Amino acid sequence: MLHPLFTPEHEELRTSIRQFVESELAPHALEWEREGRFSDWVFKRMGDLGLLGLRYPLAYGGQGGDWGHAIVLAEELARCGSGGLGMGVAVQTEMATPPILKFGTEEQKQRWLVPAIRGEKILCLGITEPDAGSDVANIQTTAKRSGSGFAITGRKTFITNGARAHACLLVTRTDKSAGHEGFSLFVVDTDLPGFSVSRELDKLGMRSSDTAELVLDDVPVPGEALLGEEGKGFMEIMWELQGERLIGVAGSVAGAWLVFRRTLEYAGERHAFGRPIGSFQVNRHKFAEMATELEAARQLAYDTALAWERGEYPVAQISMAKLFAGLVVNRVMNTCMQLFGGYGYATQAGIERAWRDARLLRIGAGTDEVMREVIAKTMGL
Ligand SMILES: Cc1cc2nc3c(=O)[nH]c(=O)nc-3n(C[C@H](O)[C@H](O)[C@H](O)COP(=O)(O)OP(=O)(O)OC[C@H]3O[C@@H](n4cnc5c(N)ncnc54)[C@H](O)[C@@H]3O)c2cc1C
Repeated sequence: MLHPLFTPEHEELRTSIRQFVESELAPHALEWEREGRFSDWVFKRMGDLGLLGLRYPLAYGGQGGDWGHAIVLAEELARCGSGGLGMGVAVQTEMATPPILKFGTEEQKQRWLVPAIRGEKILCLGITEPDAGSDVANIQTTAKRSGSGFAITGRKTFITNGARAHACLLVTRTDKSAGHEGFSLFVVDTDLPGFSVSRELDKLGMRSSDTAELVLDDVPVPGEALLGEEGKGFMEIMWELQGERLIGVAGSVAGAWLVFRRTLEYAGERHAFGRPIGSFQVNRHKFAEMATELEAARQLAYDTALAWERGEYPVAQISMAKLFAGLVVNRVMNTCMQLFGGYGYATQAGIERAWRDARLLRIGAGTDEVMREVIAKTMGL
C-alpha cells in the first residue's frame, strides 16, 4: 500500500529515475569514487531530464511537484551505489536552491535558480567554518558594507560541490553585535576576485562528492547578492537545514534498504556448517530487527515529509527522523557487514563503501547530539 505521500504518478517517476540511475549513473560509480568526484555532466543530464527541479514551480523550469517527488529522487539516487553522488545532487536541489526560491528576488531566481534547475550552474552551500560547525551562531565570516555592496572575508570548510560550484549560498555575519539578528545570506559568484578554493579534503566515505575548503579574502560582492533580509540569515538558514536533513534521511534509509536486501540474498546463498547462514536463528532475528527499524525510519521520514507538504513546519519531527535514521542506518550497515563476513570487509561487494558512506548521516547537517538538543528544546528543556 502506498504511503499517502505518494500517488501512482510518483511511482511512475520512481520507475523512470530508477532506469536512468541504473543505466547511466551506476556504471560509473566506482570510477567516480576513485576520482574523488562524479562528473559535471551529471548535473546537465539531470537538468535535461527535469530532475533538478522536481518540486520547483514551472515558471522557473521546475516540474511543479512536491516533497513526495523529491523523496523519490533521493531514494532512487541511492541505487547509484555511491552516496556522494546523491549528496552532491541534493546540495544542488535541496540545500543551495530552496532559499533562493523562498527568499530570493526575481533577479536572483533568474540568475541562479533557473540555470541550477537546468543543470547549467552548480551551487554549493557554505555554512560550516574551521572553528564553527555545530555552533552555527559562532561563524566568523563577515560581510561589511562597502560602497553599494559588501566586502566578505572568512573561511568555509567541508563544502560539498565547493571545488566546482559557480556560486555559493553563503552564511555571513553582517552585525556582530546583533546576536542572532546579525546574520545574512548571500549568493556569491565564485569567480569574484578574492574567492578561492584553498584545498580539497580527503574523507572516509561519500568519496564521489568533492569537499572543499573555501577562502574569501575581501570579496567585493554587489548589493544584489544579499539573499533575503539583512539580519535574518540565521532564521533563514535554520529553515534551509530542515529540508536538507529530511532529504538526507530519505536517501540514507533507501541506501540501507538496498544493502539489507543484498545481505538477505547473500544469507540465503552463503553456507556455513552445512546450512545457509540466514537459517541460524541468531541471524534470522538480526534480519527481523533490521527490517523493523528500517521500516520505522522510513515511515517517520514519509510522515514528516507529508506534514511539511500539508503546511506544517515539523522541526522536532525532522530532528527525530534524522537522529533515529542515523542510528538505525549505521546499525544496519554494521550488521550487514558482519553477515557478509570477510566479503563485506573486502571492497568488491560494495558493502564497506555503503558502510563508510552511511557514517556521515550522524555528523553532517547537524550531529546526533545537535538533533537531541533541538528535540529537547522543543520540549521546553
Ligand atoms: C562529507 C561532509 C560534507 C559536508 N558538507 C557540508 C556542506 O556542503 N556545507 C556546510 O556548510 N557544511 C558541510 N559539512 C559540515 C557538517 O555539517 C559539520 O561537520 C557538522 O555540522 C558538524 O560540525 P563540526 O564538524 O564542526 O563538528 P563540531 O561542531 O566541532 O562537533 C564535534 C563534536 O562535538 C559535539 N558537540 C558539539 N556541540 C555539542 C553540544 N552542545 N552538546 C553535545 N555535543 C556537542 C558534536 O555533536 C560532535 O560530536 C559537511 C561535513 C562533511 C563531513
